[in-house]
Amino acid sequence: MSQTSQPELLTFEKACEYCGARLEVSSVAMHSEPRHYHFVCPQCSKDYEISSFAPPRVRVLAGRTDGRTGPYQQTMF
Ligand SMILES: [Zn+2]
Repeated sequence: MSQTSQPELLTFEKACEYCGARLEVSSVAMHSEPRHYHFVCPQCSKDYEISSFAPPRVRVLAGRTDGRTGPYQQTMF
């Protein structure tokens, strides 16, 4: 058995809940405890939280589909 010390790249696709854009989120798996990281949808700025080993990188695979142009707005009131 050979052990690899190469970090493993974890990639998953996610559809933005707000604008419908398809996002590819990639992160590196390391031998440590996962932490919570935030990332934002590049199309509408809605933020998400994931459990990961390193700060995630986000790439847009397909643009937003909601027809809106404004950013996601948190309900603050
Ligand atoms: Zn979005």
